[in-house]
Amino acid sequence: MARYTASVCRICRRENLKMYLKGDRCYTDKCAIERRPYPPGQHGQGRVKFTNYGVQLREKQKVKRMYGLLESQFRGYFHRAAATKGKTGEMLLQMLELRLDNVVFRMGFADTRSEARQLVRHGHFTVDGKRVNIPSFAVRSGAVVEVGDKSKKVLRIQEAIETVDRRGIPQWLDVDKKALKGTVKTTPNREDLTMPIQEQLIVELYSK
Ligand code: SF4
Repeated sequence: MARYTASVCRICRRENLKMYLKGDRCYTDKCAIERRPYPPGQHGQGRVKFTNYGVQLREKQKVKRMYGLLESQFRGYFHRAAATKGKTGEMLLQMLELRLDNVVFRMGFADTRSEARQLVRHGHFTVDGKRVNIPSFAVRSGAVVEVGDKSKKVLRIQEAIETVDRRGIPQWLDVDKKALKGTVKTTPNREDLTMPIQEQLIVELYSK
């Protein structure tokens, strides 16, 4: 499967937003966006004026990269969100938040979404008692996500849960850090998502 292999810090600098894609490093003064707060590339420090389309495109790219998805996957989510009752933009964000890899990250069992994805693929988690190794698995409200018995000693998971307080656990999740287990209390509302996202721009872009 195709995947993004360039420096992830370039993504933050391109979108001018700290996306916390590198775990520990993001909380130090080595963070690239703190050192070079302008877009990457030869013309990064030049003046750029975006068209309407450009603004919409950047917003879509930002969210797509934040969740680590490819274009086809992201577009698939958009179409499903558009076919669901409710505001398309909000449905889209809700679906993305309820992906298993994101839930694992939000619960603090991984430092980044990409690490969460790898841990899920390696079968370290159960959902309602059953092992699930599909990162895109849609977790439902009320589901219990737990680190599998054999994986409770995995160092990466233990280190991640120890440092989760610096970013906090969202209100829609309930996590028992000692038991390495969490519950999705409710589906996330728009207010639960604190990252600066203008989902309406994505809806406008795909509705052209
Ligand atoms: Fe983004 Fe800074 Fe983390 Fe790099 S270190 S991924 S620029 S937040």
